[in-house]
Formats: sequence, structure tokens, C-alpha cells
Amino acid sequence: MRRTTLRPARRVCDRAVCVALCAVLASVPSPGCNLSLDLPGAENPFRDLPPVPRDGRLHSLRANLAPLGTLMEGQTLRLLVRGASVTNVLILLGDEREDAAGVVVGGGPVGTEFEFRAAEAGSYFVFVHSDPSGGGDVQLLVGPPGQAPASPRRQAVLVSFAPDYLTHPGLWDPIDAGEENRALLASLSDLVREEILIELRALFAETPIDILSEEEALPAGPVSRVTFLPDRVPAEDQDAVDAALPVPDPSRPQCQVRVIFGEVLPRGAAVDVGNRVPDDEAVVYVGSFQGRGKECWTSAINSVSSVVLTLSQTAAHEIGHLVGLFHVEQIDVMNRTATLAFLRELPFGRGQVQLERRRGSERVGEVFTSVIQDPAVYFRAVFQTPR
Ligand SMILES: [Zn+2]
Repeated sequence: MRRTTLRPARRVCDRAVCVALCAVLASVPSPGCNLSLDLPGAENPFRDLPPVPRDGRLHSLRANLAPLGTLMEGQTLRLLVRGASVTNVLILLGDEREDAAGVVVGGGPVGTEFEFRAAEAGSYFVFVHSDPSGGGDVQLLVGPPGQAPASPRRQAVLVSFAPDYLTHPGLWDPIDAGEENRALLASLSDLVREEILIELRALFAETPIDILSEEEALPAGPVSRVTFLPDRVPAEDQDAVDAALPVPDPSRPQCQVRVIFGEVLPRGAAVDVGNRVPDDEAVVYVGSFQGRGKECWTSAINSVSSVVLTLSQTAAHEIGHLVGLFHVEQIDVMNRTATLAFLRELPFGRGQVQLERRRGSERVGEVFTSVIQDPAVYFRAVFQTPR
């Protein structure tokens, strides 16, 4: 029997040991790798489930997808999702391309009321991502709006650089490089900064996101910030969100040190779902990209253009999180390992979202094939820009 619950297509984990564990769990029925909300009987949850009454009362959910029914352009609803196991609450718009999929157009906090305004007419859904080991009831309230705040039309992002972002340690190799190399990096700092700003402005040119430098006058409204810091930050625990291993290389196991390339602050904030925080912050840790001696050199920093590409794509990835973009399965700016794994210019594209939750001490990513992230659709919805 097919089930209406949206199931993750596969799980990806930060560590090889976690991948192995998932493989074992997936082969036997286990709550450890399945979602607990279930509603057998219907073929397509995007089509067959009844809408949740918009009566301002809490209703228990039996599936992880709940239809909100049809909304007209500009129509606003008040929502609340409660449940100890809930990790993410997303609003989906029925996909134009696929019958059984939805595109992310917003979301909100767990356990706190929030407003959602439909940027265009269509069928809308609430998707609830849960930790199956969390247990307990999941409840959804849908009601008439209170005072819906006006959505911003654009998001300003100030990109700033610590004075020694390339050199202390920055990209300075602590094993092989001498002071002359540090002087060379210092001499390149201004050039790399300017080139990163050019790259970021090009990447966000067709979006409602304005990239600002420290030399520019800031707008009157709230501003998000991304700062390039010189630090090398080893990933000490599973709280690290944008941590990744360098490209696997069994011949150099001593170089497989897990580091954090960038993150939304404070640590663990991960994604500003629905872009509800217009003055949030992220960092790029330049030192995490450094080569370490002849054995652990990295092609990511073997030329000025590689340095600019690596650092600007990492900043773009963090800016994506600041406005509410999740990781995606596809090779894209929002792929969690994009920067070092692919080392080429990547777009913001349409992809299947990868949502993360904890299982014990591990952070597990689950890919949902029917939950689509399309930055163009998302930006139109969140920034209320004309279609
Ligand atoms: Zn990320």
C-alpha cells in the first residue's frame, strides 16, 4: 500500500559512520530512519487529503503534509504548529510541474504563531518535518490573520572582511609557508575582496538581495551581515552545520580534518526559514580553507581566481541560509559540500530539499523528493515581488 506521508528518499550524514548506520537501519523496520506521522489510504497527499479547517483551533495531524486549501493572491493565514518532535515547518505551493510535489514558499518557527501571506493564487500546504524518535502529538492551528506584517521587498546584505582575513592565519599555510608568503597574501587582500564582491553581486543580480560593501551607505532598514574571518575552525561536535570533509582522498588520511567553512550565527541557527529575521548574521571562516604542508595542499586556493570562487560561493551559500534557503540534493550553491567538492561556478537552482535533524549525537540529513526548493519561486513569495 502506498502511504500519504512524504518519506525521505535517502539520508545523508556528516560522517561515514552515520551513513553506515543508516544503511543498516534502512534494511529493517525501524523508527530511527522513518517519519512517524502516517496516513494510509490515499495515493497522493497533495491531492487526496482534506484541507485543515481554518477555525483557529488546534487539530492533530496524521500525516506530515496538511493541505491549507486554495488561497488567493495576497490572502493571509495565521498558523501554529506544535509538537515536541517537530524540527521544521514549511509552507509549500502545489508545484506547477509535478502532480505530487510542492515548492517551498515560506515557513515559520515551531511552537509560535506566525503569519503566511500568499504571493500568488494556488493550492497551499503545510509540511511538518519531525524527528520520529521525538514522539508525541503534532498539532496544527490555521486561523484568520491577525496583524500581518508587511513583507520586505528586498534584503540588504553587508559583506565585510576582517583586516587580516587572508593572513592570520587565513590562507597562510602554517607548515610550509614563510613570511614572504604571508606578505604575498596580504598584498592580494584588497584584490580578492573586490573580486568577491563582484562575484556576489553577479550571483544575486537577478534576485531581491542587495550586496553591499563597507564603503557604501547602508539603507535605513534592517541589514543582514556576512563577515569573512581569518579563523580556521575545526568541527568539534555535531552542532556544526556547514561543516564538510575535503574531497575524500584515501592516500592522505591525515588531511581529512573536518572543518567549518561558514555558518549562520549563533551556531546552530542554520536556516532563517521564511526570512523572518532581516538583520541576521553569518560568517565565512577563511582559515578553514588553508593548505597545510605539501601533503595537505588544496587546489581550492592555488590561484587568485580559485580563492575568489571558493570564498564567494561559500558566502553566497551562507546568504542563501540567511534568507531561508535549505540545502539541496542537486549540485548547486546550496549543496552542503559545494565549494570544495565541485570547485566551479554554481547557480542557485531548483532542487530537492535536504532537511536536517539530530539522531543521538549525529546530525542526519533527509532528502525529500516531493519538497522542492526553487529560489526564483521562493524569492517571489518571501519578498512579495510581482510575478
Ligand atoms: Zn549550509
